[in-house]
Amino acid sequence: MSQKPSKKFRINEQTRLHTFFLNPYENERFTRCPKCGALTKARKKVFVIHIEPGQLLNLNMTGRYCPACDLMILHKDVVEGLMAAAFTQINPSIIGNEYLIMGTLDRKTWLDIQAQPHNYSLVFDNLHVFKHVVKFEPEHYGWVPDPTLKKEKTE
Ligand SMILES: [Zn+2]
Repeated sequence: MSQKPSKKFRINEQTRLHTFFLNPYENERFTRCPKCGALTKARKKVFVIHIEPGQLLNLNMTGRYCPACDLMILHKDVVEGLMAAAFTQINPSIIGNEYLIMGTLDRKTWLDIQAQPHNYSLVFDNLHVFKHVVKFEPEHYGWVPDPTLKKEKTE
């Protein structure tokens, strides 16, 4: 574990969890892992999303997960549909803004946060930032890591 802390946001002492891939391909649902080819499992988690300007959303949703690779996959179209649904009533002007899926929360923390929805420090102090964020590109014979990204370090 020799991760350099990201300067993008305040780092807490929580363990980093999961390699994360936001799947932009609407015709590909990754029932198989793009890295090792094994079947992925449906996994429900609470994801913390930062939306410009300065809005946090905790989204309890199901993604695809490969236990062998510790790879968590969310489908971009599903995420954006849920985000739009969440903000249609309360803040429609934010829909379509830039956003970043930062990491995950434990279920217990999520319940605490629902009791105090505007306590952002509760979110930041308990956020499990992703270990790595990766991309995969379609190739003729399978999925390959995006060559424009730094090679993923093995743990
Ligand atoms: Zn895998």
